[in-house]
Amino acid sequence: MENKLYIYNTLSRTKELFVSLHENKVGMYVCGPTVYGDAHLGHARPAITFDILFRYLLHLGYKVRYVRNITDVGHLENDADSGEDKIGKKARLDELEPMEVVQFYTNRYHKAMEMLNVLPPSIEPHASGHIMEQIDFVQKILDAGYAYVSEGSVYFDVVKYNEKFQYGKLSGRNIEDMLESTRSLDGQSEKRRSVDFALWKKASPEHIMHWKAPWSEGFPGWHLECSAMGTKYLGEEFDIHGGGMDLMFPHHECEIAQSTAALGKETVKYWMHNNMITINGQKMGKSLGNFINLEEFFTGSHPLLTQAFSPMTVRFFILQAHYRSTVDFSSEALQASEKGLSRLMEGYARLQKLTPSPASTVETAGLRERCEEAMCDDLNTPIVISYLFDALKPINLVSDGKETISAIDLNELNDVFKLFMEDILGLIVENESTTDNDAYKKAIDLLLNMRLEAKQNKDWGTSDKIRNELTALGFEIKDTKDGFEWKI
Ligand code: ZN
Repeated sequence: MENKLYIYNTLSRTKELFVSLHENKVGMYVCGPTVYGDAHLGHARPAITFDILFRYLLHLGYKVRYVRNITDVGHLENDADSGEDKIGKKARLDELEPMEVVQFYTNRYHKAMEMLNVLPPSIEPHASGHIMEQIDFVQKILDAGYAYVSEGSVYFDVVKYNEKFQYGKLSGRNIEDMLESTRSLDGQSEKRRSVDFALWKKASPEHIMHWKAPWSEGFPGWHLECSAMGTKYLGEEFDIHGGGMDLMFPHHECEIAQSTAALGKETVKYWMHNNMITINGQKMGKSLGNFINLEEFFTGSHPLLTQAFSPMTVRFFILQAHYRSTVDFSSEALQASEKGLSRLMEGYARLQKLTPSPASTVETAGLRERCEEAMCDDLNTPIVISYLFDALKPINLVSDGKETISAIDLNELNDVFKLFMEDILGLIVENESTTDNDAYKKAIDLLLNMRLEAKQNKDWGTSDKIRNELTALGFEIKDTKDGFEWKI
């Protein structure tokens, strides 16, 4: 098909027609998680947003090399140039090797992404596995004259860079303002100016992860890995770089400066950013107590949640908003998404059972074109979803025997639903009967614990009701001296 995909480029602040740099090949880099804790909604949104882009580019016929990194070194507390390494700190507190922390949370991240039906990227490089490439990158920037060595650390010279290039152009910041607001801090550290940022840090004695480099035994600055790994796997110029809006400054701004300084040219053609998720109108944060990780959604175990929500409900909830809009999470909003999704899934199931008639009395034409058009308009998933909802009406009328549909129209409708629901939006039927499902096990335990509580309160009505209804569903429940056992 003819490509009419328009995407919003954060750099130009406008929707641009997507034209790949290498004909039918697309190189796409997305900043992945720093693996020192469980994935939460803030991780689900970029993963799902760029999963949709990945799927849609594949649908348009492109060969996509999708690189999403794992940050396992160099990301310091408060995203700053000083402080403890986030993974190092977790390793110290839990008395583990840093790589044990990395492996543990990487495995859990993968599991959560799989449950959300997020396709794995083509390459998932780790920062710690690309130290040589990062050292080379620092050397290139030093050779080009845009960095300086101070006390064994290497810093990027933002002011010098800004004389030739423009620092701050992605986030719309002005270097004069930045210098003005931080000037009083200058000279207080080994950096020349506080706007400068670390490319290589000399490790202090208590810092666990460090490597040998020409300047010191140390570790790379956080922003460096994406410049080094992005250009290693996608080339000096590649198509798309994505991430959450919170990464625009300083992370992506620094990445542009590093790559431009080292290579003398712009690396990325289209910058894309998803907006953030708030919880009941508030920013998400560990200190605010509203930090809900994905597993807590799937099991309903967080106090802010009234129930468990399935991975597909979370995915649908995120897709019901355009990726550049903010999304406010609340239990009520997710309940509404759960209802909407099951209505859509029931309609799709009904569609697959319809039988054709010689002629159609319902109008179903044009659905494919409308959905394509919405996707091509900067991945407008909420509009695609609204078109699919509109199509439920004729499906239900035919299903109820009030209208008829021809074989051609029925095939087309089935094709379009399969394409947009499953292949592009990635909404699939969840298998609820698997006893290996953690959420499922926890839900049964929860019910049986409620039954124990009811028994202790001599509420025999409730306790019998739970037992009888679970038995009717095929569960075998055994009371033991410590509580209960069950199997299906
Ligand atoms: Zn990054």
